[in-house]
Amino acid sequence: MEKYKCPVCGEEMEHDLMVFLKHTDHHIIDIILKEHPQWVHGDGICRECLDYYKKSMGHTSYMDEL
Ligand SMILES: [Zn+2]
Repeated sequence: MEKYKCPVCGEEMEHDLMVFLKHTDHHIIDIILKEHPQWVHGDGICRECLDYYKKSMGHTSYMDEL
């Protein structure tokens, strides 16, 4: 089974566990790019990172869009 390495946290995991962000997730993409400028959103991230960044937006009005 091919392993996927999350470019954000560096964890290796099963390929199916990665998530691709959509254009509608641009506010998440923006936050990730601030911390990881080398990241390309076509690379995807792991679910744990996605949860983390979604939670980190809980303090903003972006939550209303989710
Ligand atoms: Zn990750």
